[in-house]
Amino acid sequence: MKNVLILIEHRNDRVIRVCRQILSFFSLASSHTDVFTINAFIYGEKINQNVYDELSKLGVHQVFSAMDDTLNHYNPEILSPFFSDVIQTLDQQYILFSNTAIGKDLAPRLAHQFSSEMVSDIIDISIKDGLLRFTRPIYGGKIFEYIQPEERVFVTIRANSFEETNLIRKMNTQINFVHSKKIEKLMYILKAATQKKESAQVLTEAEVIVCGGGGMKSKKNFEILYELADLLGASVGASRAAVDGGYISRSALIGQTGKRVKPKLYLAFGVSGSMQHAAGMSTAGYVVAVNQDPEALIFNFADFGIVGDLFQVLPLLIKELKKYKENNDRCINPSSDGF
Ligand code: FAD
Repeated sequence: MKNVLILIEHRNDRVIRVCRQILSFFSLASSHTDVFTINAFIYGEKINQNVYDELSKLGVHQVFSAMDDTLNHYNPEILSPFFSDVIQTLDQQYILFSNTAIGKDLAPRLAHQFSSEMVSDIIDISIKDGLLRFTRPIYGGKIFEYIQPEERVFVTIRANSFEETNLIRKMNTQINFVHSKKIEKLMYILKAATQKKESAQVLTEAEVIVCGGGGMKSKKNFEILYELADLLGASVGASRAAVDGGYISRSALIGQTGKRVKPKLYLAFGVSGSMQHAAGMSTAGYVVAVNQDPEALIFNFADFGIVGDLFQVLPLLIKELKKYKENNDRCINPSSDGF
């Protein structure tokens, strides 16, 4: 029997999407092979009962819960001792994180502390001879590497690599509370956290994404996309040309070397639709593309396409959405507005 321990992140009293996807994968695997015990570590100042309920619906055997007012903001110095205690006590073989900023920060710290192997940016997992075999893209996504560690390993998993499944097998989940540790001296203290405009919502969790490509032509022009995103309650993403042009930070990159996203609605402005970009957005629900080139590849993925100048289309779209919003007095919601 192999143990899997997953760091669970939660927001607005829900387990975040990428963690739900990871749990879905293991729950399904477990129901077929019965080789895994799924354990979860969760932390926060407060943890709502909904979060625990969600974990048990997703097949978690045991939850290790660190609830403390020092855990209101992520600080690895405070969180690591809680988590490493659980890892040690349970003797976990696979310690899994989502590829979020927190996962990417905490996983290598703990791997170093335990002198263990670390495998990052996993996009697929298979089970071979009772061991997990991880797949990850290397050399900018040109080839895939397969890794099958036999010892304890720390792993980060890319968002939207697995399907989220509804109820698989509800567990009678045991909740264990992990107690706080006195830390003598912190290297740094985080007092508050703010979100940058461009990541109003985490891209990998977003239901609506407005994406700008090289056709946006400047950082200043990206402001129009933020205005549209505000109206739609959307996140702003970008293609490589826009990131390389310095119009937006690399964290907004969608594609093979960027983020894999799965929104219900994806609007692309001045994006050519290269194979590498499509690798990150082809599982989007509805795709709307605006491009002046009728031959642009993005139209192969689009449900609705507009051949035209985005600098004419965008202001018109914003004007119409504002009108719609004034009449309806609310933000456009893709779940209830017919998407
Ligand atoms: P461009 O190719 O410059 O296209 C701009 C588009 O905008 C054109 O189609 C043009 O017709 C249109 N346009 C211009 N002006 C207007 C206007 N006024 N109105 C309407 N339309 C207009 N790319 C990614 O995006 N993500 C990745 O993760 C990624 N990984 C890569 C990994 C590797 C190993 C390699 C080799 C490449 C990778 N790329 C990636 C780069 C990718 O191949 C493309 O070069 C990139 O996606 C192009 O970005 P783009 O379509 O925005 O820009």
